[in-house]
Amino acid sequence: EEVLAEPARTKTAVIVVDLDGLKEVNDVLGHAVGDDLLRAAAERLALNVRANDTVARLDGDEFAVLLPGLEDEQAAVAVAERVLTELHRPLQLAGVALTIRASAGVAITDGFDGLNGVLRRADQALLRAKRDGGGVARRFDPVLFAKAEQRRLAEQDLMRGLEAGEFEVHYQPIVDLDNGGITVGVEALVRWRHPEKGLVPPALFLDLAEQLGQVPRLGGWVLEEACRQALAWQDRHPGFEMNVNLSASQLTNPKLIDEVREVLERTGLPPQDLVLELTESVALTDLVESARVLSQLKELGVRIALDDFGTGFSSLSHLSTLPVDVVKIDRSFVQAMPETGGASVAEAVLHIARTFNLSPVAEGVEDAGQAERLKDLGAGRAQGYHFARPMPAIGVTELLDK
Ligand code: C2E
Ligand code: CA
Ligand code: CA
Ligand code: CA
Repeated sequence: EEVLAEPARTKTAVIVVDLDGLKEVNDVLGHAVGDDLLRAAAERLALNVRANDTVARLDGDEFAVLLPGLEDEQAAVAVAERVLTELHRPLQLAGVALTIRASAGVAITDGFDGLNGVLRRADQALLRAKRDGGGVARRFDPVLFAKAEQRRLAEQDLMRGLEAGEFEVHYQPIVDLDNGGITVGVEALVRWRHPEKGLVPPALFLDLAEQLGQVPRLGGWVLEEACRQALAWQDRHPGFEMNVNLSASQLTNPKLIDEVREVLERTGLPPQDLVLELTESVALTDLVESARVLSQLKELGVRIALDDFGTGFSSLSHLSTLPVDVVKIDRSFVQAMPETGGASVAEAVLHIARTFNLSPVAEGVEDAGQAERLKDLGAGRAQGYHFARPMPAIGVTELLDK
């Protein structure tokens, strides 16, 4: 067996230096002065490194200093700090006293990636320097870099998945406890059918989609898909209800009302059979605005449900000002119900629902005991793994045809 020796490589430290305020100098004093400033900066950089080091101009107001043989990160940061101190000394240009401010990012070649790789890492360090207020030198941080890389890949992957239409809607039955537990409707729950990861739950992509501003678009698709599906089920089950979740960004989207109206028109679903769910925290963020949007939705004939009810209300009086029809009692209360007898938060929440004349739906019912107790407490409707898990549309079709 042949063993190849690793070739000895000397490492190189790379310092990326970025000047602040060049644009302002160009704008106020003209490009000639700006160019002089760049030249002065380059000279100062060259004066402060060794003969076999290289100073290169990158884009715009960025320079790279390459220091071959400098393998120690700490030492490289010290060089960068010295360079910054030099750059920060006032200088005289076009009769004006100017002070250059600059930030620096430091990285060392790792012997495997090329110049592009080390420049990318130095850039990340530079970003940290600027985030720390600028005028300072920072070294590359592999942990932060890995996180940023991961985030970048996740964003790319999500955008690709949206483009490729990899999302599907699953449906979880909602049953009538007083009527033998028959399925009276479903809640639409979005999933991502990922080519490598399989079925991905919303908890793993909704936040990112929200940050990327993609939830209104994705939610709009879910709404249309769900309404179309509901109408198909209504063929044999008139009045079958469809619940669809709305996020904060959908509620504040000025196009929401038109979108809901258009979807109802396009699909032909009777408005009263569509229930739009939003969480208390979403509804109570801007109470006045929420009340306005919800009233407009109600004018279309759709119903409104408060989701995760009981987990976030700051003031009960707010509830009475919102045009809400249904409350979905959070599963934490259902799961905290005592096995036998005794008062429970679920009971109290049901009492509140009745007081405000809201129809309750108990969420997260996982066993027969809970179902029985909720029925006795007059919960009316329930949803949970005990009855059925969320499933593709075909599963609901089979369930309804049984
Ligand atoms: P949610 O609206 O509270 O939906 C109920 C969640 O509880 C669902 O999780 C459901 O699968 C789960 N669940 C149902 N029964 C049980 C049970 O018996 N036990 C337990 N432990 N869990 C149960 P899922 O599908 O992962 O959705 C999570 C959240 O993502 C939803 O919470 C909702 O806030 C959001 N979401 C899902 N689909 C959409 C959508 O299309 N648009 C928007 N804006 N949000 C969505
Ligand atoms: Ca700059
Ligand atoms: Ca919900
Ligand atoms: Ca819920």
